[in-house]
Amino acid sequence: MFDKIEKVINDKKSTPVECEYHTLRNLENKGKIRALVIKGESIAHIELICPKCGNYDYHTQEWKQASKGAKYRFEIKCPKCGNVIKVSKLKGAKE
Ligand SMILES: [Zn+2]
Repeated sequence: MFDKIEKVINDKKSTPVECEYHTLRNLENKGKIRALVIKGESIAHIELICPKCGNYDYHTQEWKQASKGAKYRFEIKCPKCGNVIKVSKLKGAKE
């Protein structure tokens, strides 16, 4: 469980994975989210344990750069319960 993105990285071992964006956050109620965007690709790998219903999900979605004024980096919708998880930007931290 929660190793899909790990596998994506490991599968590309022959060439070091350069990350455009990579984050792993713990959410409330044992929820978890991991997101990876590989440099040069326009898709985001998203791995999620929904903090609301506990559903595990892995999918890819189009990666859109958040606008400068946006409070959130991106948002993800749980396919099971429709809960929207907003991933905030990390202030001052290297994402
Ligand atoms: Zn859910």
